[in-house]
This record gives sequence, C-alpha cells and structure tokens, in this order.
Amino acid sequence: MSKEFSGKTSTKFPIPETMKAWVLGDPNEILLIDKPVEMPGKSEVLVKIDAVAICATDLDVISHGPPALIEGGLPFNKNFTPGHEYMGTVVALGPSVDEFDIGDRVTVEIHSGCGQCKRCRMGMYTSCHNYGLNYGDVNKGHRANGFTTDGGFKQFAVNNINTLIKVPNEMSDEEATLVVTAGTTMYGLTELGGLVAGESLVVIGPGPIGLLGVAVAKALGAGPVILIGTRDSRLEIGKQLGADYTLNVKTEKNIVEAVKSIVGKRGVDYVVECAGTEQALNDAIMMTNRGGKICLAAFPHEPVKINIPHMVINNIYMFGIRGEGKSATHRAMEFMKEKRFDAKLVHTHTFNLKDLPTALKYARERIDDAIKIVIRPWS
Ligand SMILES: [Zn+2]
Ligand SMILES: [Zn+2]
Repeated sequence: MSKEFSGKTSTKFPIPETMKAWVLGDPNEILLIDKPVEMPGKSEVLVKIDAVAICATDLDVISHGPPALIEGGLPFNKNFTPGHEYMGTVVALGPSVDEFDIGDRVTVEIHSGCGQCKRCRMGMYTSCHNYGLNYGDVNKGHRANGFTTDGGFKQFAVNNINTLIKVPNEMSDEEATLVVTAGTTMYGLTELGGLVAGESLVVIGPGPIGLLGVAVAKALGAGPVILIGTRDSRLEIGKQLGADYTLNVKTEKNIVEAVKSIVGKRGVDYVVECAGTEQALNDAIMMTNRGGKICLAAFPHEPVKINIPHMVINNIYMFGIRGEGKSATHRAMEFMKEKRFDAKLVHTHTFNLKDLPTALKYARERIDDAIKIVIRPWS
C-alpha cells in the first residue's frame, strides 16, 4: 500500500501489496500473475472481488480484442485484466468517500463516464464521448473496467462510487453478479420508452441477456411475453423466468407467423433482439407491428442486409443499446431484491480463480449446458 494513501482502511480487511490477477497476452492467451494492489483515489473505493461472472463479451475480448480498448488500441500484451461482471466487499475508501462504508457488499456497473461530455450529462454514460480516453496526457476520466481499464478476473479492483450498487444481505454473491445483466435489458427497455405494461413483447435469443430480458419485461408488466430460441433447455428456463410462450425456431416452419398466431396478425409491439444474426434481425422487423419498437441488444460482427423499406413504411423504430446506462442497474436490483424473478436460474457453474481457462472453455463451448459461469477469486 502506498505511504501517501489518505483514504480509509480497516484492520478487519487487511490489504496486501500484491494480488493474483489474470492478464491477457496474445489473442486467446491468458496468464496468472501477481499484480500490485492499487489504492482508490477521490470518489473511488477498493473492492475485494468475491465473485465475477463470465460474459460472451469477455470471450470476444480475449479472442479478438474489441470492444476492449487499452491505451487507444488492442488489449493484447498490455498487462490488461479482462472481466467486467463482478461483485465484492468494499475494503478501502478513497479520500472524501462517505457514500459507502468498509464492509459493504456491492455489485458494479461497468461504465463510469467522464461526467463532462454531452452524453454523460444526459445519463448516457455508456455512450461517453470520451470512451477509452483514459491514458497518457489526455486522461478524460472515463473508465469501463474490463474494457478500457483493468477488469475483474483478479482479487481486488478500484471502482468509482458511481458504479456501485449495494447488495442486500440475503442475496448470494453469484446472484449479485447478474444485476448488471438484468440492468442491461432494463436500460434497453428504458430507451424503448419504458412503458411496456400491457404491451406484447418478443425476446429473440435466450442467452443471459435474453433470459433476464424476459424476466425484466414481465416484471415491468409486458404481456404476452414470447421467447424465441433454438434450445429447448434454455426455453424452459425462459418459462420459469416468466415467458408466457416459447417458440423453437428449429421446429416452427415460419417464426413470424408463429408470433402472429399468438399476438394477432398486426404483429408484436416490442422486440428485444439478442441473437445478432441477419435472419433474427429480419424476423424481428417482420414480426413488429406498425409503430412498434425493436431493441438491438446484440449485433452481427459484420454489416448485414435488413429490410429498411418495410421498417420505414411501417414506422418501426430500431434502438441500438449499449451497456447499462441511466442507472438502469439500480432499477434491476430493486426487482431482484423484491424477488420479482429468480435470476439465479441462469447461473449454472462456479470455478476457482486458477481454473479460469477451463471456465472460459465451458462458456465458449457451452459445455454441460453452461449459461452463466461464476469465478470465485479467493478459492
Ligand atoms: Zn457482460
Ligand atoms: Zn462522458
């Protein structure tokens, strides 16, 4: 710990000089090393990470690099630790922090905006105009842990207090890592206008965001909620999270007609698209009713052809959604605290820190029906 640290620590939570941390080497190469523990600055706390979940975006970062952006470029061989869906215990307070106490359990949002650009001022800090400009002489104060700054596949992390959400005692560590996933769909539904009570809604793609999208939409009063996917096991979890209907694209001859047979021939009011394929995007457009709205919670890795004429003629809106803006995570936490849905249903596996490579393999290959995998940095 540096001698000049002027914040607060406690003998209850001794802070070592170094910690175990995974860092990214070449693409698909991760190494377990010892890293110094950094201390928090103004408006920051040090979090002892108790659990960190693996997200599909982590797999992209580790294999390809983007959307991670380290020192203005690819994240490889820069001593960078990925991982962004973590929770833990506050063990040190930066100078002037009185919003949190040492010992508080917290889960984190990914993005801390610069706080001064046009988008941050609107609450859209996940679209901060100073994204990634946090190095060298141009440090603009933007942080996205696991993308532009060090992430959570390690034992301690420094977080801005803006990114923290208190975790209630009765919520498990594993469940708390899912708050940001639920918060992402909550942000999507917020951007679509928020008032989904009584509106019909389709979710395409039962990954973690899609499954919790079903849960959040249902908690917000949407109905009927229809989940579309290719695996019956995941559709079954969707039902337990509140889907009124599930449709398997593999067995339905015409998925658009199948949706219309449930909601009526005009089509559905809202679609939350979490598959990110050209086919799914066009299905979403064709099943949405006139004046309806589509949330893009996933995206193809290449430009694709979509039916723009049909969208324009029918006044269909499409919203690109990035991350968990406008404090949506706090609203998601409120639902989870009230047990409006059981997010734990998407947590399938837990691994120790040293077994991260195996855990990543499980996530990538969906071994043993893996959905959300959680890493325990202290075991
Ligand atoms: Zn994620
Ligand atoms: Zn900003």
